[in-house]
Amino acid sequence: MLEELKKLEALQVIDSQIFNLEEELDTLPDKNDSLENEITEKENKISELKNAIELQATEKEKRDEILKKGEEKLKTITGKQSAIRNKEEYNALLREIDNTKRFNRDLIDEINEINREIEIKTEELNVTESDFMKEIEECRKQIAANSKRMEELDATIEKLYDKRDALAQNIRPAVYNKYQRILEASPNGKAIATADHRVCLGCNMTLPPELYNMVLRAVRIEVCPNCQCILIPNTDISKKTSE
Ligand SMILES: [Zn+2]
Repeated sequence: MLEELKKLEALQVIDSQIFNLEEELDTLPDKNDSLENEITEKENKISELKNAIELQATEKEKRDEILKKGEEKLKTITGKQSAIRNKEEYNALLREIDNTKRFNRDLIDEINEINREIEIKTEELNVTESDFMKEIEECRKQIAANSKRMEELDATIEKLYDKRDALAQNIRPAVYNKYQRILEASPNGKAIATADHRVCLGCNMTLPPELYNMVLRAVRIEVCPNCQCILIPNTDISKKTSE
């Protein structure tokens, strides 16, 4: 039986590698999803800023148009001065000139205010855009690296499965099936633990003496009562003493 157990030990080495690689592989699609979301958020933020600036520019254009008309009006009514016939008309004209001038001045103030806002927002856009572009590029690089890693992992895992299938074929079916059941139920991909000095090295539990003796004799498969792993006696004495 010891020989079968040693084969299980070799199988476990491969299965642990598969387990770890599959764990890594599982995390990568989610990582890429959140990176894609990060890119979308940043792109949206840039669009929002651009839209806000565009809105302000439209508002400014509207006022420019009105101001143009106001200035034309001022020119026209100022030109009417020569046609004045009496004091009432003259006073009325002066009031109109004053009103138009005030209207135009208010518009110019508004336009200047909008120009300042556009300037501030454009500055903000420039800084944000250059920061975000760098960050988006980093995200894209990371996504590409993750995708490449996924392909590598797929290929490596496939090879490891071929290797483990070849090993599994040489293990007695009853032994292999027991191992497989424990492996599939295991949360950490472990179905094998070494028993050493009466301790299960899988979970560090001290084993009952009679169980430990059975493990040392290796006549049948013994399982740790705590972690359910198949217990393998530590036969690597030379390695132990050199440690
Ligand atoms: Zn254990």
